[in-house]
Amino acid sequence: MEFYLDVDGVILDFEAAFVDFVRDEYLPDLPLGFILQSWELANDFNTLDIDEVWHNFMDSDQFTRLNLLVDTDSFNQLSEQHPVYLITNLAKPQYESRRKNLERYQLQYKELFLAGHHNFNDDSYPTKSTVISKLHRKGERMVFLDDHPRNCQEVKSAFGNSEVFLMSRPHNKGLEDSMWTRVDDWKDFLDKAM
Ligand SMILES: [Mg+2]
Repeated sequence: MEFYLDVDGVILDFEAAFVDFVRDEYLPDLPLGFILQSWELANDFNTLDIDEVWHNFMDSDQFTRLNLLVDTDSFNQLSEQHPVYLITNLAKPQYESRRKNLERYQLQYKELFLAGHHNFNDDSYPTKSTVISKLHRKGERMVFLDDHPRNCQEVKSAFGNSEVFLMSRPHNKGLEDSMWTRVDDWKDFLDKAM
């Protein structure tokens, strides 16, 4: 068995930190319980220059301190038993911040890669299946977890035998497809994947 895991919305809570950053820096009246409803940040914050906010957040200390959505013990246990690869959809300049954020929680994994459906206007930016194709060992069960339906579809299309899981998040609520199995949280994923 080999595991290919997304990071934002699966292992680290990008959305909550981003909302807190927007409240601290731009919209002090944003309610404390505000939840992003869309993957496109501009849809939730249409009064802001979202590109500017995005870049400021990426450069901020908060971005290296996103909260954990998994429990370290079960995560590291999985890593001891199987190869676990992390594939995060960030641009190159954010690689080091992301690595540090994961290190902060002492998460064990084989390697961290940048890939995904959002290519940051870089035509050479890889899809998740491109990265997986270089790592996959023939005959091994391939388990993929992501909170973005497009990545799930992309991987399932490339690898028909893969076991693809969609992590439930507010932005993917109600989207169902035979390509993936929906999971509620990390524990639910372990229960269903193992
Ligand atoms: Mg994600």
